[in-house]
Amino acid sequence: MECGKCHERAVYHRRWEGTFFCKAHFIEAFERRFLKEAKGLVQRGDKVAIGLSGGKDSASLLFLLSNVKERLGIEVVALSIDEGIGGYRPETLKAAEGLCHQLGVPHHVVSYKDEVGLALDELPAKLKTEKINWCSWCGVWRRWLLNRGAKRLGATKLAVGHNLDDEAQSVLMNLMRGDWQHLAPMPQPGNTEGGLVTRIKPFRSVPEKETTLYAVLQGLPFSGAECPHSFDMLRRKVGAMINEVEREHPGTKLQILATSDKVKSLLKAPEGKAPTVCKACGEAAAGDVCRACELKADVSA
Ligand code: SF4
Repeated sequence: MECGKCHERAVYHRRWEGTFFCKAHFIEAFERRFLKEAKGLVQRGDKVAIGLSGGKDSASLLFLLSNVKERLGIEVVALSIDEGIGGYRPETLKAAEGLCHQLGVPHHVVSYKDEVGLALDELPAKLKTEKINWCSWCGVWRRWLLNRGAKRLGATKLAVGHNLDDEAQSVLMNLMRGDWQHLAPMPQPGNTEGGLVTRIKPFRSVPEKETTLYAVLQGLPFSGAECPHSFDMLRRKVGAMINEVEREHPGTKLQILATSDKVKSLLKAPEGKAPTVCKACGEAAAGDVCRACELKADVSA
């Protein structure tokens, strides 16, 4: 097929719009939409820490934000988390380091070994069991360290590369788990000591296919390695189900996200105890001690 804007060969078909793009016009449209989105998410003078995993989404995000930083009047730094997962994280960190070097962006790495006291791979020995729900440990520490790391860097925003597929999956998973709290706006502590650095997700309405294609067309160094512990079966099943429906009904993922946003805007934040500050680490917590410090204590004994 031909591009809808010129006579070049199309490299992408945006099915829900029925539009075909050649390489140049895909890049142009992708960047134009990104700039519009980013303008609404950052303010002049912001220091934006980008959670850089070394995968295609965060690579595209870093590349784009770094390219428009002067135009937006922002500072950009990259922040990677080293969980200590052999056969996976070293390769992705190498890709992340390569991209930062190429773009001249400062790159900071925060490790579980330094901050939690052990690498994730050491959990079975510590807990004396092979049956470990890896992501429920790792996900808590990862969110904790991204926020801690961003604050240490003096960041006013924390940008993450979550795409439309991730967001649509999360909405359905929250529904399936009965996790109604995540369907309502959450009360947040301020962006001060103990608070959460404001998270921004410039790709939340961009399909994974597009962030991947953009990274490939721009020749960005990224790693396609998958975490060996990523057997979150519910997310995989939900992702496969949504993809199947999307094939038959293009635009489904966008509709899931739009509906969730609409519901959020109609609901009030749940009443109850306002978030407090963790007595152990000073980060935001639901009780006296945050979940990350509780888990840290479990492996420190
Ligand atoms: Fe950690 Fe799970 Fe992500 Fe692997 S898939 S890095 S274990 S949260």
